[in-house]
Amino acid sequence: MAATVHPEVQSLEILGVRVHRLSMHEALTRLESLLDENKFHQVVTLGVEMIMHAQQDAEYRELVNQADLVVPDSAGVVWASRRCAYPLAERVPGVDLIPRLATLPSGRKPRLFLLGASPGVAEAAAAALEQRFGVEVAGTMHGYFKDDQEAIAAVNASRADILLAALGFPRQEKWMQRHAAELGVRVGIGVGGSLDVYAGKVQRAPGWMCSLGLEWFYRLVRQPSRFTRMLAIPRFMLQVVRKGAEGARAL
Ligand code: UDP
Repeated sequence: MAATVHPEVQSLEILGVRVHRLSMHEALTRLESLLDENKFHQVVTLGVEMIMHAQQDAEYRELVNQADLVVPDSAGVVWASRRCAYPLAERVPGVDLIPRLATLPSGRKPRLFLLGASPGVAEAAAAALEQRFGVEVAGTMHGYFKDDQEAIAAVNASRADILLAALGFPRQEKWMQRHAAELGVRVGIGVGGSLDVYAGKVQRAPGWMCSLGLEWFYRLVRQPSRFTRMLAIPRFMLQVVRKGAEGARAL
């Protein structure tokens, strides 16, 4: 079923967690406008596991609900939105957003800092993103640093416009919120395991599996260690169905 356009509805709430109702192109336009304001803005790429985590962690739920931009990263979020009259038009996965940051809708080319993943991964991801998509990378640092100040100093010295924080949720979002006033970047985006994908460490599910909403199954087969955390997906579906109209509603 194609989503009907209701431009007056700008965000939805799924199990009490807010997500913006924007296409990929609209999200990039919004992101560009955030770059024009001289302060830090938090961008969340929302997945089902994050919504389920937010049920137990009120501080995290508040953080997501106050974020400047929240995009639907996973198929489950779009599925849940279809239960309300104003569904999300499409997924806006963080992993697909990253190469689109090479050139923003007005032609601007922001400078990115890649923070996170195991040593060597951010550098490999940077090389791939620069070569394949023309993304401008201002600096990189792995995500197993001991000293927050060292990471903040590296980000600020690079004079990047956008920070991609790949520290896993909820740490990446909480870390950026805690240091928002110290970070010189104007936008911080939590991107989970995306740097592993661009570094070639983790394979993405084939397109046909993604379009059938089976990306979770591919990840489970490739990384069986994710089984326990992926139990969040059936729990999420059950809660959305049980709550009916309360599960997903327009704001
Ligand atoms: N990670 C990190 N520092 C840590 C813990 C994790 O940089 O202290 C990285 C990890 O190497 C991986 C990413 O965070 O690259 C989390 O990936 P995952 O696929 O679990 O992300 P999510 O499911 O949150 O998108």
